[in-house]
Amino acid sequence: MSFTDSPKTLQQAIVHFADPDNCVAYMVERRWPDGVVKCPTCGSDKVTFIAKRRVWQCKTRHAKCQFSVKVGTIMEDSPIPLDKWLMSMWMVANCRNGVSSHEIARSIAVTQKSAWFMLHRIRLAMKARDMGTKLGSNDGGEVEVDEAFVGGKPRNMHQSRRLALGQADHKTAVIGIIDRETREVRAKVVPNVKRETLQKEILKNVKYGSSVYTDQAVAYDTLKHKYIHDTVNHAETYVNGRVHTNSLENFWSLMKRNLAGTYVAVEPFHLDRYIDEQAFRFNNRIGVSDAQRLAKVADQLLGLRLTYAELTGKNATAAGKF
Ligand SMILES: [Zn+2]
Repeated sequence: MSFTDSPKTLQQAIVHFADPDNCVAYMVERRWPDGVVKCPTCGSDKVTFIAKRRVWQCKTRHAKCQFSVKVGTIMEDSPIPLDKWLMSMWMVANCRNGVSSHEIARSIAVTQKSAWFMLHRIRLAMKARDMGTKLGSNDGGEVEVDEAFVGGKPRNMHQSRRLALGQADHKTAVIGIIDRETREVRAKVVPNVKRETLQKEILKNVKYGSSVYTDQAVAYDTLKHKYIHDTVNHAETYVNGRVHTNSLENFWSLMKRNLAGTYVAVEPFHLDRYIDEQAFRFNNRIGVSDAQRLAKVADQLLGLRLTYAELTGKNATAAGKF
């Protein structure tokens, strides 16, 4: 199956992925773009396809010599069939305002717990893989940096209990960086909005010599050593010529609107994945087709491994950053 045969609408996707052979063909094309299927255990391409069971048999002698397209990916230990995975990916990638695990559970007939697990894996696949690239440019490319605070309202929890949980204000800080030319946004949860924390993220994500626009928070006050730094005073003038953070405000408002409609776990660990999802949606909203968005998510999902322990926060390193 070539890319042009990929389903282009939700209706086509439902029909196309109802056939398990189409699901396998779609995943094979994404996982092995050159068409040569390789054993995930030993890497050999001496494999034969057992069509009846939709698995391959590796000719080398070793354990797990039979494998499906899911083996060695984030879906390996999931009993959920490929068609359900693909339809869930379609929903998450292409629903403008995001979907909840309840919606996925209803739509593809799995339990809410399974849907939650799938949703989090899919979100992880939506995390930008920037491969160390930076935003801005050495000759003054314009970048906006801003921070936002998100989280549930503390109304339903007694003050003393919140303090006991160390959640005095119940809000989580998020830093956002947007390249004004490419429109690429990056965002992540940060432990605080101290100077060291924010500047570390800026140094990691913005090229030296870029024009960096921020508000007047003191956290940004030493940026001038590496960047052309201009600030806007939000209290006085909202826009000071080119010096503003309006592109990022746009991202924050979309993010907050989507978060408001969904149950949000307050732990920063989970919030990071919601933010990854929002950044994916924002970065792929213009000039990208539904089929291309599905392909992007599928490509990344196939290359990832994530265990249940990692997903539920018992091993925070799996969350990854930026
Ligand atoms: Zn092998």
